[in-house]
Amino acid sequence: MNIILLGPPGAGKGTQAKKIAEHYSLPHISTGDILRENISNNTSLGVKAKSYMAKGELVPDELLITIIRDRLSKPDCSKGFLLDGYPRTVPQADALQMILTESNKKLDIVLNIDVDDEELIKRLSGRRVCASCGMSYHMIFNPPKEDEICDKCKGKLYQREDDKPEAIRNRLMVYKKQTQPLIEYYTRKGLLRMVDGGKDIPEIFEDIKKILENYD
Ligand code: ADP
Ligand code: AMP
Repeated sequence: MNIILLGPPGAGKGTQAKKIAEHYSLPHISTGDILRENISNNTSLGVKAKSYMAKGELVPDELLITIIRDRLSKPDCSKGFLLDGYPRTVPQADALQMILTESNKKLDIVLNIDVDDEELIKRLSGRRVCASCGMSYHMIFNPPKEDEICDKCKGKLYQREDDKPEAIRNRLMVYKKQTQPLIEYYTRKGLLRMVDGGKDIPEIFEDIKKILENYD
């Protein structure tokens, strides 16, 4: 299965992606995680991406297209993949289409996780992320068992720079302008399925499994 998880920042894409990837044994490809890893390793890509990310802007398309082309060519993607955070613009979606066509692959489904703005702001402001494995928690909605420590790997939790109020506002605006048009884009291709992201985490995962049953 070749899947895209679409949705605004804070919708729960990463949270659901971890569950889907484990359940269906798919590689979870989060462009945000790839970029953050490059920033912590101080690579030239990381240096280029850092200032855009801190402000909540999108990193330029050409960098993202190179990242995704490289990642999708890895052997673990031969039986399927789960994209989280890519594409975020129409040119990125067009490039993905081209990359897949070149390797005789196609998209099976685009899951759009829908959540209202007020809830997104609450989710982003309370998010804490594991510095080691990237697992997402929420101080109120999804707290770790031990304060500030990841349940899974015991890594330390931190607040992302772009989860501070100024960057959150900008990210929601950027989403509406640059990413939201992809809902229409994939609807026209007949690939889009809506997921009610306002429910709680296990319920959403059950809904997603029901949708994916037909593609397994
Ligand atoms: P995204 O990857 O779409 O930016 P995350 O998966 O990181 O979003 O989730 C954003 C925040 O919301 C995290 O703090 C996460 O724990 C929390 N969260 C995710 N799904 C839900 C949900 N269904 N209800 C409440 N909080 C959620
Ligand atoms: P995420 O972890 O998906 O919330 O992404 C965090 C940040 O990484 C975004 O706000 C962007 O600055 C950058 N980013 C991640 N994916 C993309 C993408 N597909 N296109 C452009 N920028 C991206």
